[in-house]
Amino acid sequence: MASVTLKNVAKRFGHFTALEQLDLSIGDGEFLVLLGPSGCGKTTTMRMVAGLEYPSSGEIRIGDRLVNEVQPKERDVAMVFQNYGLYPHMSVEQNIAYPLKVRGIGKTDRAARVRAAADKVELGPLLARKPRELSGGQRQRVALARAIVRTPQVFLMDEPLSNLDAKLRVTMRAEIKHLQHELGVTTIYVTHDQIEAMTLADRVAVMNEGRIQQLGTPAEIYDTPANLFVAGFIGSPPMNLIPGAVSGGTFKATDVSVTHPDFGADGAGILGIRPEDIEVVDPQVAGIVGSVYAVELTGEANLVTVLTGTSRVIARASRAWDGKIGDKVGLRPDPARIHLFDQQTGLRIE
Ligand code: ATP
Repeated sequence: MASVTLKNVAKRFGHFTALEQLDLSIGDGEFLVLLGPSGCGKTTTMRMVAGLEYPSSGEIRIGDRLVNEVQPKERDVAMVFQNYGLYPHMSVEQNIAYPLKVRGIGKTDRAARVRAAADKVELGPLLARKPRELSGGQRQRVALARAIVRTPQVFLMDEPLSNLDAKLRVTMRAEIKHLQHELGVTTIYVTHDQIEAMTLADRVAVMNEGRIQQLGTPAEIYDTPANLFVAGFIGSPPMNLIPGAVSGGTFKATDVSVTHPDFGADGAGILGIRPEDIEVVDPQVAGIVGSVYAVELTGEANLVTVLTGTSRVIARASRAWDGKIGDKVGLRPDPARIHLFDQQTGLRIE
């Protein structure tokens, strides 16, 4: 096990800058998730830690060792890819044994360790099969077994669950979390799926356009997003963002008037409220008013979309809520969970 440190790392492909000035320190045994939309630089970051890509500038360390120029196989990392990367002509057993074979581990020792890794992911009965004779979930488990057959210093996982169906993804997510906890190996995990990030991570690095937008625990990222990008990216449905202006401690937009003791300086701003932090109430008693545009029952709640002056606001009402399309309603945000962002910089003010 080891820490992983990226200091001032940049990566350019020709004239294109994929990553600029990345600083990231991953603790020994930590589960860090790189989360962001397609093209933000997650995979490039991970490939640099693996040694499959070299940084244009900056330093990458695994433990105390500077690995900028170190070959992938000398870095003691194990990778799990989206497409599993299994050898089709080899059996499950041979696939799992491969990392041991290339390191010259003897046959008897190899067999015992393959058996132990296969048992951990419940592949014991399938050792003689070829990858094409397995389901997607089973192939994924072979890829995991191959990663855990030896104890590397770092696990690198690039969207390992994205080829699985929704149900299997949830099951395998728990498997990965459990395995990582049991093995205690430092893990960097790349995904664009926020639920995966929130459920797996000790800390999440939210990335966009080659930069880390926020680094924090899942709760920190969710409860105090650093800027509009993070606020809009995390949460399903995402945070409501209402443009307007603050004057004398009150935020105003058409049909919206919200007073808050922390709204200090006057000026343009964007009010942020998560759907679950809004109560649907009588229009007479609320600072936000509008008419119901859509009602969606999700199973445990009703998502109520309300058209206010210039914005659409989604509130999560209880299952028992019985309003209908066209109703005039009021929306009351929880004062403790209101956010205000600067319209120019996008940074969170409150
Ligand atoms: P995805 O979720 O789609 O895999 P990502 O966040 O992992 O996206 P990267 O694969 O790291 O993104 O790519 C970051 C940027 O660098 C993208 O704009 C991509 O087009 C570019 N890029 C990546 N590899 C190369 C390359 N070998 N040559 C040129 N540009 C590249």
